[in-house]
Amino acid sequence: MNISITKTTNPKQKPDQNDLGFGQYFTDHMFIMDYTEGKGWHDPRIVPYAPLELDPSCMVLHYGQAIFEGLKAYKTSKGEILLFRPEKNMERVNSSNDRLVIPRIDVDFGVKAIKELVKVDVDWIPDAPGTSLYIRPFIIATDPYLGVRPSNTYKFIIILSPVGAYYKEGINPVKIYVESNYVRAVKGGLGYAKTVANYASSLKAQVEAKHSGYTQVLWLDGIEKKYIEEVGTMNVFFKIDGEIITPSLEGSILPGITRMSTIELLKKSGIPVTERRISIEELYAAHAAGKLDEAFGTGTAAVISPIGEFNWNENSITVNEGKIGPVASKVYETITGIQSGDMEDAFGWTQKVL
Ligand SMILES: *Cc1c(COP(=O)(O)O)cnc(C)c1O
Repeated sequence: MNISITKTTNPKQKPDQNDLGFGQYFTDHMFIMDYTEGKGWHDPRIVPYAPLELDPSCMVLHYGQAIFEGLKAYKTSKGEILLFRPEKNMERVNSSNDRLVIPRIDVDFGVKAIKELVKVDVDWIPDAPGTSLYIRPFIIATDPYLGVRPSNTYKFIIILSPVGAYYKEGINPVKIYVESNYVRAVKGGLGYAKTVANYASSLKAQVEAKHSGYTQVLWLDGIEKKYIEEVGTMNVFFKIDGEIITPSLEGSILPGITRMSTIELLKKSGIPVTERRISIEELYAAHAAGKLDEAFGTGTAAVISPIGEFNWNENSITVNEGKIGPVASKVYETITGIQSGDMEDAFGWTQKVL
């Protein structure tokens, strides 16, 4: 399929590179492709960024049949533009699509669409250290119909947002509230798919945690509220008595690409990672025994987010004196080094756009 390109005649003023924040500014163009039952995905196009016109009865607005992705384009010091494992994001699109009965998208075509759009808006990619162009592909159900069933029409859209350095003032470990009231997902539900509904269900807990002075919520399993699942928008890792542990993916945890990369990276450097169930009691017992050496989250936005404190049922523990530990540091340096082109990509993780 050929992607048609219509350029804007009215380019926007670009924001100050030092004050980008996250997800506040959008580039001049977007990618759109339609799906119609019987016709498949069709009419891929890059057009000026603009509001969408949707029928008020369109299904996504009522039943939340929508999925999304998040990845970044990085400008290297040599001026090259790199993507980090974009095929993994497109594979995950299809896994999310399958769960929500949305038709699949060809992985190579999806990666091509991302690259073409990034090329059109290449001037929007910031180059200050730590900055990048955040890429948000998403799919919405568009049938104008109020009955409950999967839609017969969809839109696959990609928008771009220049974002600032996540750690402007150095890496500061976050404080995490262990949620034992609300749940995010259960096995058999949507937890492993990147759906908008997962975030809708997380907001209440997030607001309450923020109100109490915590950055994010650590989710426990939805049935026993005993086993650790993940943190807000990140997967989670622990170093206990020298062993790196991350919760195994059993259907309710989002399989993060940063999680996968962290496991592959550590394994390659001779540090095994155990994927298994780990309870919050075990974590607190390890801390009491002086064996909880490190805790950190992994996700595209921050790459690595060290955790300095947990609060579970009003019982607070501090990890590694509230400082980033050596394993988190090593993973952070290596992944961001590969993304920025400053380190050799021995894994073949990056793809060149330009
Ligand atoms: C996207 C996401 C992650 C992190 O995935 P990455 O591919 O590493 O960015 C973790 N948890 C949830 C709930 C997510 O939505």
